Amino acid sequence: MASLIWFRRDLRVSDNRALYQAAKNGEPVVAVAFATSQQWLIHDDSPGKLSFWLANLQVLAERLAALGISLHLEIVADFADIPEAICRFAREHGCNALYFNREYEVNEQKRDEAVSRAFAAQKIKTFAYADRLLLEPGRMLTGSGGFYTIFTPFKNSWLGVAQLSDLTPLPAPAPLASPLKQVVLPSARLIKELKLPGWREDLWPAGETAAQARLAHFAANGLDKYNEMRDLPAVDGTSCLSPWLACGAISPRQCLAVIMRARKNFPTEGSGEAVWLNELIWRDFYYHVVSGFPRVSRSQPFRKKTTALQWRHDEESFLAWQNGLTGYPIVDAAMRQLKQMGWMHNRLRMITAMFLSKHLLIDWRLGEKYFMQNLLDGDLAANNGGWQWSASTGTDAVPYFRIFNPFSQSKRFDNDGKFIKKFCPELAEVSTAALHNPAKLAAEIQKKKISYPAPIVDHKMARERALAAFKNL
Ligand SMILES: Cc1cc2nc3c(=O)[nH]c(=O)nc-3n(C[C@H](O)[C@H](O)[C@H](O)COP(=O)(O)OP(=O)(O)OC[C@H]3O[C@@H](n4cnc5c(N)ncnc54)[C@H](O)[C@@H]3O)c2cc1C
Repeated sequence: MASLIWFRRDLRVSDNRALYQAAKNGEPVVAVAFATSQQWLIHDDSPGKLSFWLANLQVLAERLAALGISLHLEIVADFADIPEAICRFAREHGCNALYFNREYEVNEQKRDEAVSRAFAAQKIKTFAYADRLLLEPGRMLTGSGGFYTIFTPFKNSWLGVAQLSDLTPLPAPAPLASPLKQVVLPSARLIKELKLPGWREDLWPAGETAAQARLAHFAANGLDKYNEMRDLPAVDGTSCLSPWLACGAISPRQCLAVIMRARKNFPTEGSGEAVWLNELIWRDFYYHVVSGFPRVSRSQPFRKKTTALQWRHDEESFLAWQNGLTGYPIVDAAMRQLKQMGWMHNRLRMITAMFLSKHLLIDWRLGEKYFMQNLLDGDLAANNGGWQWSASTGTDAVPYFRIFNPFSQSKRFDNDGKFIKKFCPELAEVSTAALHNPAKLAAEIQKKKISYPAPIVDHKMARERALAAFKNL
């Protein structure tokens, strides 16, 4: 008999709690993963993210083969097909136990419950582990037993629970058998068949070794300065680990370990390590929101009152936003970064999301969907959380009257225009001052005959329109 390990978004052998437990007795282990093309469409998973997932799966297959574990990729349409398919797989491979790491979104939970029921009916045990987050939803609850809706008390509670939890990364399991000679995963063929455009392999090479190398680079060069650099899109000031975290090629505990190595304890003051830890806690927080308030996974705002907001229908402006042609240089550079890299800097995600939902008063759900369809790190919890924060519809969101002025934002965070000019090369000859001043920009564009659009909306008018819409609620 063998144990079955089911991989989903935990594509690594090191610090993988389900794999570690499945392999710890030295009994045979078989691994399975499911490609679910219909589900991917329903979830708006981007082609780049899927290519990256498949490529990471291929690397994982090689790592597992070295441990004597074969990984099989089964192809089904959607989550509903998985219970039957995985039961059949378990029967065919003589498995008497199923191991997996828990996931928290509505559809994923339903899928896992159905699989657990199907296995229980066959008298096969299932073991599920808390692995994806530092601390699982439900571990931090308010005094009255509810889910937190504000980040700071959540974080304080989080720090208390974390002190009492073992968050040390686990090693990879010891080899169970001689290395397998053949690794048969058809990822390359699948990528071709599904016609998925490749991700930027030069920026995000697949596999946990590459992810660890990026973490080591960040720990050595960025972590202690993260508090000063993280808002500057032109510099390498953040970890850029999100695509690997999204597919699980690296674990959050492995990220936390570099903080603990540097600070020996949970840092709470404003150091680079403390601010980076804060971001990892935000990651947990948004999962906790998705889990505690499932309506946010169903395209509903967290703040029910904002359901009544009168969003504008403006296809032309929405397209200009998508294509980086709004006439606001920082917004355009950011949207082009997303198209070119499948990734966008956090400060810019806030600026562009707020521009769509406030300046253009276009429904944040359209922007959320577009981000998912283009991001390599697309993640329902963080994406929904970020969009609802920016649109002032979410938990602990920005107040509706705090509307970023994109020109002030670029002056503050891209003062020399290096980032803007990289992604909007047509603005290379524009003076730095003009990049942050609409009147000067218009004058220089005209004088230098540069092909760049005039702002599609006036900042002052747009601000007042958004304020009025929110006030009317
Ligand atoms: C509108 C909007 C949409 C977003 N969509 C996503 C998304 O789909 N996937 C995603 O992973 N992040 C998303 N974020 C959060 C954040 O922008 C990215 O996690 C971050 O830019 C990734 O870059 P990094 O790995 O260099 O992050 P770092 O700054 O190095 O942070 C380390 C890790 O912490 C987590 N993290 C950082 N900031 C946040 C945050 N605000 N919320 C939740 N987790 C965070 C990420 O896992 C990140 O990789 C979104 C933010 C906004 C405002």
